[in-house]
Amino acid sequence: MVHCDGLLFQYPAGEFSLRVASFEVAEGQSVAIVGPSGCGKSTLLKLIAGILVPAEGAIRVADHTLSSLPLPQRQRFRASRIGMVFQEFELVDYLSVEDNILLPYYLSDGLTLDDAVRERARTLATAVGIGDFLPRHPRSMSQGERQRVAICRALVTKPGLVLADEPTASLDPANQTRSVALLREQSAGVGAALVMVTHDHGTLAGFDRVVDLGSLVTITPTV
Ligand code: ADP
Ligand code: MG
Repeated sequence: MVHCDGLLFQYPAGEFSLRVASFEVAEGQSVAIVGPSGCGKSTLLKLIAGILVPAEGAIRVADHTLSSLPLPQRQRFRASRIGMVFQEFELVDYLSVEDNILLPYYLSDGLTLDDAVRERARTLATAVGIGDFLPRHPRSMSQGERQRVAICRALVTKPGLVLADEPTASLDPANQTRSVALLREQSAGVGAALVMVTHDHGTLAGFDRVVDLGSLVTITPTV
């Protein structure tokens, strides 16, 4: 599902450069990425999402070489084929829970919102225990509940790949383990591969693979 080969990435401003010789994720596989703060975990995830583009090397996601697509096509690919769960969830507080889950359909012209999609949103919400919350607004919900809205939104398009960047950072420890299990189970439920960045080793149980980015990359500060 994900193939990264010979990656080099440097931010235009700053001294950080990320080199990854090889990183692969099989279809349906769940991979946790760990490593010290600042080692490039979020950067790697943004490269896989096509938000950033490497200076060298290639990134393939499913059957597309993302790293050589122009920006509009990368954005369209991401919206329709990749589900994302952000650290702060990035919910829209003035929209209902249902509309937050359906947001990819409002934002992408490549996706069509129909009754089957609405039904899938309801099924996902019920599966993660927020089935009764669809008309409510996320601002009146707990962090754990908000995170479940974000999980539903990432999965509603039936993506082949889900990317999550420290999705449990703002949850208390009991909710962290539960939420990651939920994210893993629900991704598996739609057959999606899952790549999750975490620095919390308590949430790693059940992943097919744990990758320490600290040992995978060469970090060369430029002078
Ligand atoms: P992690 O997620 O592992 O904590 P990041 O991928 O966010 O690490 O960041 C890796 C390095 O790149 C850090 O040194 C960070 O300061 C730097 N960095 C992150 N974003 C930018 C940016 N937009 N411009 C310049 N440097 C950045
Ligand atoms: Mg990060």
